[in-house]
Amino acid sequence: RDSQFDYVLRSVEERGVKFIQLWFSDVLGIPKSFQITPAELEDALHDGMTFDGSAIDGFSRVQESDVIARPDPTTFTTIPNEEGVARMLCDISNLDGTAFEGCPRNVLRRSLESAKAVGYSFFAAPELEYFYFSQEDLKDRPTPLDQGSYFELTLSDFPTSIRRDTVLALEEMGIPVEYAQHEDSPSQHEIDLRYTDALTMADNILTARLIIKQIAAQRRVFASFMPKPLEGVQGSGMHTHFSLFKGETNAFFNPEAPEELSDTASKFIAGVLHHACEITAITNQWVNSYKRLVVGYEAPVYVSWARNNRSALVRVPVSKRHNPDSARFEYRSPDPACNPYLAFAVVLGAGLKGIEEGYSLPPETNENLFELTPRELAKLGIRSLPGNLDEAIQEMERSELVAQVLGEHVFEWFIRNKRDEWGRYKTHVSKFELDRYLRAL
Ligand code: GLN
Ligand code: MG
Ligand code: MG
Ligand code: MG
Repeated sequence: RDSQFDYVLRSVEERGVKFIQLWFSDVLGIPKSFQITPAELEDALHDGMTFDGSAIDGFSRVQESDVIARPDPTTFTTIPNEEGVARMLCDISNLDGTAFEGCPRNVLRRSLESAKAVGYSFFAAPELEYFYFSQEDLKDRPTPLDQGSYFELTLSDFPTSIRRDTVLALEEMGIPVEYAQHEDSPSQHEIDLRYTDALTMADNILTARLIIKQIAAQRRVFASFMPKPLEGVQGSGMHTHFSLFKGETNAFFNPEAPEELSDTASKFIAGVLHHACEITAITNQWVNSYKRLVVGYEAPVYVSWARNNRSALVRVPVSKRHNPDSARFEYRSPDPACNPYLAFAVVLGAGLKGIEEGYSLPPETNENLFELTPRELAKLGIRSLPGNLDEAIQEMERSELVAQVLGEHVFEWFIRNKRDEWGRYKTHVSKFELDRYLRAL
């Protein structure tokens, strides 16, 4: 640890860093930070920095409001296009040094430790979808910057050049990008990050969302991770590819098994499907998230899996066979406005439960699920994901698994916060209703 501290101190001096931002996430995955100068850095590294946690949603109650931000030296990087500014991600602890229960990074750490205890490490690779809108006319409804579509090839248009600069900035920060493309909807883009361990990836997602917004804002453009900003076209998902490793070996790979998917993988995926409805409030945490999870837009609605069927909730990619490293499954419900720390923690918790209990994988569904009637779905025993935030919260509230993975503090705070959001939405009289009813009734 001391050598990591030395590395940070040396880098600050060599790169002329004048401000160090200490970043952390609140319960909803909204990034928070405060800034220190190099003079404070050595103390901050050794003892952490005390701050008033009650200022932040989900962090300590008023009577015990001080918490400590402990910068993780392995996350030190400078921020491209911000002269003299660097950042580190923090773990939040109580004054007595114990891990603070309201810190999402601690929640994921704890989940990763229970995987470690049975010999596994957990890897994630997200596909971040988002929209660019013009800042000027972002008044009532967002206006797309381009009319491109899926994999549209353009060389020098404005949004593509913003995306390209973003990829360069991410790579400069040590966040490798595997893939970037235009997505299906106008002005919708996608950046896929190369897989890393889940904790690093949650940090990377927090960072990527900020950098995507920063580079856009510098060009007077607004980047939005809102799950469904435009009616009638696809929303933004964050399909995430997950795998489990035992040491250097991918535990999902078995060259002898059908389609090379190991028993461990089947049980893990079975666990995720079994608990899918309970964890949906976490992977899809906003009222708006559920306007994406509807039939007909390549977003999942039904709890199902398939090898190559984009209407399924879990997809097991069949490409790159015989490559042990790439054995994985793709979980398609999360949206890019989730808290990645909590989302990865509950997916891992559900998967480990599947292994522990030896759940068996239901049969693959090859039909286009969007074309089946409710009767046909019921016959196949296929459930739907929660249809709105209210249903999702009810599913979550009944879940022992989610309570245990999140810990009581985050579990209760989250439910309280989301009930409030639903309550406000439920009583809101929308334009839809006024247009439809005011004169007609
Ligand atoms: N935008 C779609 C979603 O909401 C995904 C489209 C795709 O990547 N195939 O999940
Ligand atoms: Mg993709
Ligand atoms: Mg996509
Ligand atoms: Mg995908």
